[in-house]
Amino acid sequence: MREQLERLRDEAVKAIAAVSSEEALQEIRVRFLGRKGELTALMKGLGALSPEERPIVGQLVNTVKEEVEASLDAALETTREAARSQRLQSERIDVTLPGRRPVNGTKHPISLVVEEVCDIFAGLGFSVAEGPEIEHDWYNFEALNFPPEHPARDMQDTFFVENNLLLRTHTSPVQIRTMLKQKPPVRIIAPGTVYRCDSDATHSPMFHQVEGLMVDQGITFGDLKGILTIFTNQLFGQKTGVRLRPSFFPFTEPSAEVDIACVICGGKGCRVCKNTGWLEILGAGMVDPEVYRHVNYDAEEVSGFAFGMGIERIAMLKYGISDMRLLFENDVRFLRQF
Ligand SMILES: [Zn+2]
Repeated sequence: MREQLERLRDEAVKAIAAVSSEEALQEIRVRFLGRKGELTALMKGLGALSPEERPIVGQLVNTVKEEVEASLDAALETTREAARSQRLQSERIDVTLPGRRPVNGTKHPISLVVEEVCDIFAGLGFSVAEGPEIEHDWYNFEALNFPPEHPARDMQDTFFVENNLLLRTHTSPVQIRTMLKQKPPVRIIAPGTVYRCDSDATHSPMFHQVEGLMVDQGITFGDLKGILTIFTNQLFGQKTGVRLRPSFFPFTEPSAEVDIACVICGGKGCRVCKNTGWLEILGAGMVDPEVYRHVNYDAEEVSGFAFGMGIERIAMLKYGISDMRLLFENDVRFLRQF
């Protein structure tokens, strides 16, 4: 009996040493110490012993039981510790690392101004129209009353492509395309990219314009001034003064250049306004009857006005940008400010 007990203990210890998972250790516990386990089976033999031997062997049974339990517990502890450190290793997070800062983009000042201008005119009942950037000479010049060889074409240094195709020099061809498709009333705003062969601190070969056109029965120069006053007041502030000066464009008659009171000095005179107190921001006028002839409108029936402005100029005035090239360099340090 004593030998059996000792063999059983050695077997148990060997079995414990051979496994490394918690499940396997629990199986060993059941196998040796369970109610139907090997030690329990041996204890059933105690009754056959003599009264002198019984307490000695009983003592030994308890010792073996305690030894097996102790080595099971120790092995379990080791296994759990190993599993825990493995999990910690695999799920390791360095909480001292700085978080990833999400990169917030900002809208380019040109886009901001285009959106704001379109919003203001949307509120006045204008809808947005668009046209191609590679344009036919006829839409860009001829239909707008710049006949071939007309000196007014020199005002717009043109990039020619081929066969009477060119990069549009202004957004005005959108007027022609719209009127050819649509009978009056017309009330559109046409933002877009335009191109001229010109490059210095105040000129870029590619820049942006917004064109406006309103044609209906009985539209007057007073309507033009009213719309532009509402527009400039909304864009630059309620008290911005507006003045119109006579000018010339082939596609409008009469034509005007529109000035606002200098937004830098408030009209007192400064470097930006060249001490005049005024800043030119757009060109405008009543649509020339010659333009109506090209789009089959009856100049006796309808009248209207058109206006156009450079977005870069508006953006520079609105945000106090001194060099137009900053708008095209796309330096993130500059763009982040808007
Ligand atoms: Zn000024």
